[in-house]
Amino acid sequence: MNTRRRGAAAIVATLLAAALAPPARAEWFKRVDDGIMGTRIVVELWSEQPTAGEHAIDAVLAEMRHIDAAMSTYKPDSEVSRVNAEAARHPVKIGAELFGLLQTALEYSRITDGAFDITYASVGFMYDFRARHHPDDQQIAAALPAVNYHHLVLDRATRSVRFTQAGVRIDLGGIAKGYAVDRGIEILQRLDIRHALVSAGGDSRIIGDRFGKPWIVGIRHPDRKDEVIARIPLVDTAISTSGDYERYFDERGVRYHHIIDPRTGHSASAVRSATVLAPTATRTDGLSKTAFVLGAEAALRIYARLGDVEAILVRPDGKVLYSRGLEPARPNPGPPVPKPAGE
Ligand code: ADP
Ligand code: MG
Repeated sequence: MNTRRRGAAAIVATLLAAALAPPARAEWFKRVDDGIMGTRIVVELWSEQPTAGEHAIDAVLAEMRHIDAAMSTYKPDSEVSRVNAEAARHPVKIGAELFGLLQTALEYSRITDGAFDITYASVGFMYDFRARHHPDDQQIAAALPAVNYHHLVLDRATRSVRFTQAGVRIDLGGIAKGYAVDRGIEILQRLDIRHALVSAGGDSRIIGDRFGKPWIVGIRHPDRKDEVIARIPLVDTAISTSGDYERYFDERGVRYHHIIDPRTGHSASAVRSATVLAPTATRTDGLSKTAFVLGAEAALRIYARLGDVEAILVRPDGKVLYSRGLEPARPNPGPPVPKPAGE
């Protein structure tokens, strides 16, 4: 670890490491599930009662399955698929949960100057990263006018959604995992669980500490899977990492990956990875795509304005940028210089 990284880690530790005494009799329960939301779900918690611990994990996974069933665009019978099929023709009445999440998604579009935009899918649906397929310039040009969050209109009175033009599609892949993590954490809090981690793909949230010490989350090197560029000690926070190495293929020197610039319809490549810390995982998920689209400096300005957000961004040249609160400490200025007599 170089000094910069060590400095950042030390500052986070000072900020977050609550010196809690380790629990008297720690029993940890952990489950990993690869079958929900197309990603890896991890639930880890401390409970005094083995049955209560297992039941709490069951409840979190059941909630995630429920969210996946409603929000997935891969499931033709999901609520979101119904919206995509019908909302350009007439307003579609939707459940309170989806309505709320669409409101939240629009809020993040406004906060991020349009970098986060669930209508990216109007172009995004033409990419297939597993099959190494991308749309050509003509296809992108034809579909791009449909990418704009202003085309998504919500009506609170009838709890319905409509698209103002044909061709608009939405996809919640950039926020539903963060939302599901928050719902999971809420369930655990209601069950009086005080120490836990819930994660879905790149989105995680932590309550309490782990054995009286902070949880340690590593941020991987964009090119070297097993190498960590920073380890951050965390207590009571959410953290999301987005990377251009998650779902991608390379073709003639161009990386095609799953974060799409709503202005161009191409993969957004202003950074290689972005890690965002904030109180909730919905927030970190909604904000972790910003730097890919707007660039590291513009994203850091937005985060600074928000006040409760910190970030670690890796630029294409390999430089790692930190938000103000994570910036390594300045070098020690040395002993104070005595003032001249007479002042
Ligand atoms: P993960 O799926 O591991 O949580 P991210 O949080 O980085 O990864 O989200 C990437 C996903 O966000 C993409 O797979 C896609 O579904 C969605 N997405 C891509 N571009 C945008 C965008 N500009 N705005 C909102 N969502 C996006
Ligand atoms: Mg995410």
